[in-house]
Amino acid sequence: MKVVLQNLTKIFPSRNKKSNEEVVAVNDFTFEIPDGKLIGLLGPSGCGKSTTLYMISGLQKPTGGKIFFGDDDVTELSPENRGIGLVFQNYALYPHMTVKQNIMFPLQNLKGADKMDKDTMLERAYQAAKLVQIDELMDRKPSELSGGQQQRVAIARALVKMPKVLLLDEPLSNLDARLRLQTREEIRRIQKETGITTIFVTHDQEEAMSISDMIVVMKLGVLQQIGKPQEVYDDPANLFVAKFLGTPPINVFNGEVKGGKLYLGKDCVLDVAGVADQKVAVGIRPEGFVVDNNGPMTCKLNNVEIMGRDVSVVSTHESSQNPVIRSIVDADTKIAAAETVRFSLKPHKVFLFNVETEERIRF
Ligand code: ATP
Repeated sequence: MKVVLQNLTKIFPSRNKKSNEEVVAVNDFTFEIPDGKLIGLLGPSGCGKSTTLYMISGLQKPTGGKIFFGDDDVTELSPENRGIGLVFQNYALYPHMTVKQNIMFPLQNLKGADKMDKDTMLERAYQAAKLVQIDELMDRKPSELSGGQQQRVAIARALVKMPKVLLLDEPLSNLDARLRLQTREEIRRIQKETGITTIFVTHDQEEAMSISDMIVVMKLGVLQQIGKPQEVYDDPANLFVAKFLGTPPINVFNGEVKGGKLYLGKDCVLDVAGVADQKVAVGIRPEGFVVDNNGPMTCKLNNVEIMGRDVSVVSTHESSQNPVIRSIVDADTKIAAAETVRFSLKPHKVFLFNVETEERIRF
C-alpha cells in the first residue's frame, strides 16, 4: 500500500494564554512512500517524527494537508478504520493476559463482517507469532519474557490484523545494544517477508540507515532530505543532514574558496574549480582523509586509536570547528610518531556549504 502525504501540517496551539507561541510540529510535508518499502523517519528529539507518525495513524488530526493510502483519502478516517498496525516504544502489553491472549486481543474487537470465530483467531495469532518467532512462548505472561521477546509480542499483535501499513515509534529504544541490533534485523526480515509498507521512527541514524529502503531526515518540523540511506550520506543537501548522518560524525571546518582552490587556514587542500570566491563551511567525512607525507593538509597529531579493522587518527587543525578531527584510515597505514600528520583528501568525501544558509555548494 502506497502512502502519500500532501502538504501535511500540524500546529499545536500555545499552552500559555499570555503568549501566542504556537508550535509548528510538522511543516508542509509532501512525500510519497512507495508500496512495500520500509521508511525511516529520522531526526533529533522534537523534530516532529512522532507527530507525523500519529497523523498517519489517525491518532492525531492534521491542521492542514491530506493523507492517502493508495488512492483513498484517509485524512478523516479513525485509526480503527485505516488498517494500520502500531508499535510503541513501551510495548504496552496487557500484564494479566498470556502472550496468546495479547496477540489475539485486536481480533476479538472486530465487528460486523470482520468478526472471526475462535479457531480462525487462534490460527491468525499463531501465524503472527511464528513470524516473530515467539510461537513457543504463547502461554507465558509478559512478565515472564525478556524485553526483546515482549517487543516481538507487540509486533505480532500489530501484525495479526494484517495491516496495510505498519507504524513503529522508536520500537527498539528500551532494548540493550545487542538486542537492538538483533531486533532491528528481525524487523527488516518480517517487513520483507510480509511486504507491508512500514514507517519506522527513530532518532538513531545508524539504526535508520541500516534497515531502511529510504530515510526521511527532519529538523524542527521541516523535511530536510529524502532518499536511499547511502545516497543521502554521500550527497547531503545541507550541513544539518551532513552532520546528522555518520559515526564518527563528519568533521567541519571554516574554509575559504579563492581562485577555484579550497583553503583551510593556510593549507590549499583541494581544487574546487567553478566555485566563486567566498568563505565556506567544509565537511569532510572521517574516511575522506588519506595519510600522505606529501599531502596538502597538515594537522597536529594528538593520538592514534587502534580499532581492529581500522585506525582512528585524532588530530587538530586551526580551521576545525570541532575540538578534534577524527579520520578513519586502514589499519595497515604507517603513521609515524611525530608532532604532525599530513593528509590528502578524497574529493567526493569533501562537501562545501554556504556559511549563512548552510545549503550545499556543489563543485
Ligand atoms: P522525540 O524523538 O523526542 O519523541 P519527535 O521528533 O517525535 O521527538 P514530536 O513528539 O513529534 O517530536 O514533537 C514535535 C514538536 O511538537 C515538539 O516541539 C513538541 O514539543 C511539540 N508537541 C508534541 N505534542 C504536542 C502537544 N500535544 N501539544 C503541544 N506541543 C506538542
